[in-house]
Amino acid sequence: MKKWLTLVLILGPTFLSGCGAQTALLGTQSTYLFTVMDSLALPAEQVQLKAQLLAGDFLKPQPGYIVKFYQNDKLFKITQTDQHGLASVNFQPSKPGNYRFTAKVHPVGLSAKPPAPRELVVCCREPETPIILVDMDKTIVASGFQTVLIGNPVPMTDSAAVLNDISTNNTLIYLTHRPDYFGPKSKSWLTEHNYPKGPVLMSTVSTFLKGSKVYKSEMIRSLKEKFHNIRFGIGDKISDGLAYHENSITAIVIIQIPPEATQVELEKMISDLEPLPGTVHVVTGWSQIEKIIAGEESYPSSRMIEQIKNVVQNASQ
Ligand SMILES: [Mg+2]
Repeated sequence: MKKWLTLVLILGPTFLSGCGAQTALLGTQSTYLFTVMDSLALPAEQVQLKAQLLAGDFLKPQPGYIVKFYQNDKLFKITQTDQHGLASVNFQPSKPGNYRFTAKVHPVGLSAKPPAPRELVVCCREPETPIILVDMDKTIVASGFQTVLIGNPVPMTDSAAVLNDISTNNTLIYLTHRPDYFGPKSKSWLTEHNYPKGPVLMSTVSTFLKGSKVYKSEMIRSLKEKFHNIRFGIGDKISDGLAYHENSITAIVIIQIPPEATQVELEKMISDLEPLPGTVHVVTGWSQIEKIIAGEESYPSSRMIEQIKNVVQNASQ
């Protein structure tokens, strides 16, 4: 129930307030919302390039429209949207690489300006490629999802620099619980702030409603069926840490200790952290994450709990 409420609160005003609000909230420039889905593939695996066309109040699916997929400016395939507004075509990468496509809605039959073309990537890697999964909100974005809706969120200090460094030896995958409506906005934000390129995996309405932990656990499990060297998972929620840990991935949880936190708030942080297994790292900044990934330092959750206990003790003296 709470999840429905969250979704209605997030998306309701968007749909009810017309194109202006949609432009501001979702980062679209049209009455239509046109989204694409990034994906990962093994060499010679057949995957689907997917795009979805929605429009109007409550973003209804738009069936029967022509969608063209281009690869390097050359037409790759043409298809039509189905009853869910989905357009999908098969693609089989022959070897590892980042295969970029552009999806465009053909203007014929549209009642308004066509949506902007969207880029999607099929990231093809060998099964043993080192991979790092990274969350977005409160992990590389300094604030939470609400700021994404209403403002222009700023990056977490050092996050872009560290991710650029580690992306030379690892494939980065952005794994976020944000609904895929926010795909265009999320990708422009990553580009604008110089983050390394990587597939952005987002929830759909149905997977959003399952909650962050269930959604991420399912995504991690399906990635692990193909890829056997997912080295680290980075996120801000205790549930992120548990989802990574339960799937045998070294988890890094990044938290903030507000300088003005009350004793009650600090004690709540301690009790939130206590269920985390000792092998889960808990940090407060990206310079620490860099050291963990380089194998130079370890930040077990017990170390952070002690640190917060000391803050509580000093405050009460
Ligand atoms: Mg987050």
